[in-house]
Amino acid sequence: MKLTQFLKQYDTEQKRIKFFRTHRENQGICCLKCASTSLRWISTIRSWTCNKCSYRLGLRKGTVMENSKLAYRIWLTGLYLMVLTKKGFSATEMQNLLGHNRYEPIWLMMHKIRIQMGEREKRYQLDGFVELDEAFLQVIVKTVQMMLVRLIIKSIGTKRFLLP
Ligand SMILES: [Zn+2]
Repeated sequence: MKLTQFLKQYDTEQKRIKFFRTHRENQGICCLKCASTSLRWISTIRSWTCNKCSYRLGLRKGTVMENSKLAYRIWLTGLYLMVLTKKGFSATEMQNLLGHNRYEPIWLMMHKIRIQMGEREKRYQLDGFVELDEAFLQVIVKTVQMMLVRLIIKSIGTKRFLLP
């Protein structure tokens, strides 16, 4: 999804909350007090309430957003940007992109997301015999060729510079 589409799709806090709520419900939620899976959503308090013991499970509870006061807009957009770009942003760049006035909460958010992304990658690491698509292989070959050409140009340029 393109950034403009993403921003349009989640343009209100209600839509962002619904995204996180749906995501959690699809993973399966249960009461942290009695382990019941019978919970109902109460939108005014952004929590599920257990139908058996009335325990309230907040939307952020048990997630990377727990104990964070950052708006869902910041979390969702931050997650999107970090997943979108493999190289990543510095916390200062992210702070500027998100238009947030404090550095520390953004740094902490990114740190928590990186830990989760690292955990996820560990689970999905390739192992054993791996088959690659021919088109993908061609891309790899071209990329390696370009890198070699750049290295050669760089070394020729350096030699010219060093020799009188
Ligand atoms: Zn319960």
